[in-house]
Amino acid sequence: MVLDTATLRVAFAVMALALGLLFYFSAFRSTRSPYSGWWCLALLLFLSGSACFLLNGTPQQWWANTLGNILLVAGASSAWAGARSLRTPGYNFWLLTAVPVSAGIASAVDHPGSNIWSGGAVFLASMSLMIGLTARELWRLEPGYSRVRIPMAIVAAGVSAFYLGRLVVFIAEGPNSPTFVAYFGSAITTLVTMVLLAVVSFSMAGLSTEQQTRALRTVATQDGLTGLLNRSAFLDRAAKQLRRSPLTESFGSLILADLDHFKSINDTYGHAAGDLALRAFADACRATVRSTDIVGRYGGEEFILVVPGASPYRAETITAEISRRLADGALPDVPRMPTVSYGIALIEAGTASLDQPIAAADAALYEAKSRGRNRSVQG
Ligand code: GH3
Ligand code: MG
Ligand code: MG
Repeated sequence: MVLDTATLRVAFAVMALALGLLFYFSAFRSTRSPYSGWWCLALLLFLSGSACFLLNGTPQQWWANTLGNILLVAGASSAWAGARSLRTPGYNFWLLTAVPVSAGIASAVDHPGSNIWSGGAVFLASMSLMIGLTARELWRLEPGYSRVRIPMAIVAAGVSAFYLGRLVVFIAEGPNSPTFVAYFGSAITTLVTMVLLAVVSFSMAGLSTEQQTRALRTVATQDGLTGLLNRSAFLDRAAKQLRRSPLTESFGSLILADLDHFKSINDTYGHAAGDLALRAFADACRATVRSTDIVGRYGGEEFILVVPGASPYRAETITAEISRRLADGALPDVPRMPTVSYGIALIEAGTASLDQPIAAADAALYEAKSRGRNRSVQG
């Protein structure tokens, strides 16, 4: 069976258009995320680049052939930029434009009016490079992110290798050689690229929803000012931890912290300075606790910590460490950091709910305040 390249290119263009529209309306319009934007652009560039090659053999070939090379490489560059935006904000403008432009120049000086493979080697190398970079970017996505990154990365790496194979045979035997025509010609390439577009679009749509869900989850569990867990997320997380703990030994300690005379910080230095002090306290907590400890903002200028495995005495050294860090971190806007009072309670083994330890720590905190503040009291 001989596959007719022109027909395949039309099918490819129609498919890219359909995917582009679907992707635009389903993912980009609802999430406005950079990667879905880049992927819409990539589809548009693949579509128009492929359409340019339909003019091969017509009097328009001299410009359409060069433009086709530029647009297809620019499409691969956009795919790379999209994959990259999943990990890091910003993009490398020079790599994005330099590669398509060099492919264009190589084609323009290589008789594009009569040579349908004008600048072919540079074009094939550029496609292999940009699609390979896309695969690398997808592969390096944070492992917990999503499993769809794996098939995406593998398909992209496969297509990159395919373009590398085309390049090698193109240089070694030329575009009219039987090997090139049979295994790496335009018809096969169009088919392979169609598979790439389908896989990447499908996975990107999944990824797009997933990233949105993650963003919403972060908003729902995080305290916006300090980045700590908010009250309900803290209680959730702590309850889960309690259920997982062994019942034989004591579980650990619960600490309630309340910044002293915090109102006077606001009154003296301003509300914005008060916010900075709250952040500084959160930073001091983060710097002091271990990754298994749980820290949350309980409300206003009150914070809560669960320290598994720590006796109340150990908890007391932790609170001293937090207060020391806070005092050392005085800022130009908050020259005098507030002191902090702490109430500490033991969480007994087998405790199912935090209600009792919280009540005990609260009473201890009240005691610390009435004994003159800037201290820890055990409940
Ligand atoms: P005490 O030592 O008895 O705890 O005195 P205090 O002034 O810290 O306690 P009080 O409960 O009277 O005041 C708490 C203050 O914390 C009042 C409130 O305006 C301030 N506050 C609560 N949340 C925020 C916040 O997000 N940012 C700022 N800047 N201030 C806050
Ligand atoms: Mg308070
Ligand atoms: Mg206070």
